[in-house]
Parts: sequence; structure tokens; C-alpha cells
Amino acid sequence: DRLVGASADGEDQAVEAALRPKSLAEFVGQERVREQLDLVLKAALARGATADHVLLSGAPGLGKTTLSMIIAAEMGAPIRITSGPAIQHAGDLAAILSSLQEGEVLFLDEIHRMSRPAEEMLYMAMEDFRVDVVVGKGPGATAIPLELPPFTLVGATTRAGLLPPPLRDRFGFTAHMEFYGPAELERVIHRSAQLLDVPIDTAGAAEIAGRSRGTPRIANRLLRRVRDYAQVKADGMITQEIAGTALKVYEVDDRGLDRLDRAVLSALLKLFGGGPVGLSTLAVAVGEERETVEEVAEPFLVREGLLARTPRGRVATPAAWAHLGLVPPQAAPG
Ligand code: ATP
Repeated sequence: DRLVGASADGEDQAVEAALRPKSLAEFVGQERVREQLDLVLKAALARGATADHVLLSGAPGLGKTTLSMIIAAEMGAPIRITSGPAIQHAGDLAAILSSLQEGEVLFLDEIHRMSRPAEEMLYMAMEDFRVDVVVGKGPGATAIPLELPPFTLVGATTRAGLLPPPLRDRFGFTAHMEFYGPAELERVIHRSAQLLDVPIDTAGAAEIAGRSRGTPRIANRLLRRVRDYAQVKADGMITQEIAGTALKVYEVDDRGLDRLDRAVLSALLKLFGGGPVGLSTLAVAVGEERETVEEVAEPFLVREGLLARTPRGRVATPAAWAHLGLVPPQAAPG
């Protein structure tokens, strides 16, 4: 697993529960989403009703699971957590839906990866709080309608555009989660440091925030690695210098690029003059699979404005030359 990967690894799963904010007030950043959600939930509470279904879209590690738990907590409701890939048959979904309590929050992660029949069952459940359970097969099959208690579906997806419009339209509220700015990540880091009982100063938190790729999960993970370094090599206090040196050891640079990211950029610049070069050629040059370069390294490089995908191939931007401290060929003397 990469230190700067956005998906949860085993250690993340073990410690994340302790670091999760428990209320909207504690949830850092995402001001617009928080404000809108606050209204939706307060209005439902005032009406004594179950909250509308909520769709959360955004990259991994930005707090979708956390927010779904907060929705349940704010509504004083229990929560059930499952995911699209875990629901392969409509029957799996029927079993979950029919066991929900009134007002319960059902968190469905990766909702875009549910099977088609389950998805169709979900349409009816969301709209009418009813499902048709099909009993038997062939001409003798009958559909038995089953009433469901009102519940709140919280669906999460990396991209709302991946959802079929009929599913998307059944959510009363859609929140798009953005990457976090440096100041917000600093707050996440200070908060986590306090919970983990790790002393850190302002500059130390800023140093980690700048390398966290806009993602709280990565910020929390880098904080734990820097804490290790501070405990072993220093007096435990995280300063800017300690954070910078520690992350150098872990090969995460000042912009949050790791070894793979830099290998891709470096090959593009040094071997291919900044491109354009085909993805396969670039992958061979760094000794990685095409998919690894395309799916693991490139999205962040593109987001950071260091690399562009063009019809003729991958091209480095002027910022890429500057980041690696190299001079583009046309600007070189001679
Ligand atoms: P995935 O899509 O991979 O499941 P996710 O979007 O559901 O990721 P979470 O599991 O909710 O992400 O968050 C990852 C970690 O980041 C958690 O430990 C959580 O404490 C922290 N975190 C996320 N958002 C915030 C926030 N706004 N404030 C403080 N901590 C946060």
C-alpha cells in the first residue's frame, strides 16, 4: 500500500474509528455541504420525519463514511453499513431493507457497483418504502409486496455521473465533496494529533498538510508516520523540521508526490523530453504496468497540473519541469 494512497489500508481501518468526528460541528471543512446538510437534518427533526435520502459523491478518503455516521448520530438513529459490491442479488438487498428499523440510516458505499436487479429494487424502496419480493421461478413466480419502515438511504460514490439518472433523481439531497484546502487539512491534523496525544506545532501541521493531497485520510496517515519518526529520532514533538525530514525518509515530497509519481514524471521529462509519449511506452520506461501508471500515478499528477493527457500522448507541463528542478529543452542554452 502507498503511503499517499487514498484508499484505507489495514492500519487506517483500525485507527480511523477513533479519529472520526462524531457531529457536524466537529466535521472539518466542506462548509457548503455541512451547512446544507444541517438544514436538511434539522428540518426533518422538526417535522418528526425521517431525513431525505442523501447522495455523497467524492474521491476516497474525503469523509463520506464519516458523514453518513454523523447523519445517523444527528438524527439519533442507528446506522447499517454495506456496499454496492456486497449486494449482488436483489434478495441480498431485500434482506437488508426488510430488517431496517424505523428511521434507520442505511449507508451504501460504492452504490454505483450494485447489480442491476438490486438497483431496480432500490428505486421502489427509496420512493415508496416498499419492495416486491419475487417467490418462485418461471411462470409460477409471484411478487409479494413488502412494506418497509421509512429509512434514510445515504449512498456514496466516487462520481455521481456514474449513477443511472433514475437512481440519482431519487435522492433528495446530493452533496459533492471537494478536496480539502491546506488550512482545513491543518485543522484535521491538529484535531487528530490531540486525539492521538501527539505534540505538534503550527508549522509542523502545515508541513504535513501540504503533502496530504487534499485528503484527510492521507493527512492522518502521514501524521502517524511522522509521529513514529519524532518518537524514535527526536523528543516526540512534531515541528516543521521533523515533519520535513520524516517525510523525506518516507519519500513523500513537499507536494505530496511519492516515488512512483516522481518516477513517472522523471521518465517523461528525462527520457522523452516532456512528451508527448504514449502511455504504454511511459509505463515500460518506469517498469510498471500501464494500469498502474494510468490509475495510480496519473490522476494526482493531472490534478496538480504537472501532466496532461492529450490525444497524442502524455505531456509534461512547465510546472513539472520546475518541480523536478529541470530546465525544459527549448529554454536550455544552445
Ligand atoms: P472511502 O470512500 O475510501 O470509504 P471516505 O470518503 O468514506 O473514504 P472516511 O472513511 O469517512 O472517508 O474518512 C477517512 C478518514 O479521514 C477518517 O479517519 C476520518 O476521521 C478522516 N476525516 C474525513 N473527513 C474528515 C473531516 N471533515 N474532518 C476530520 N476528519 C475527517
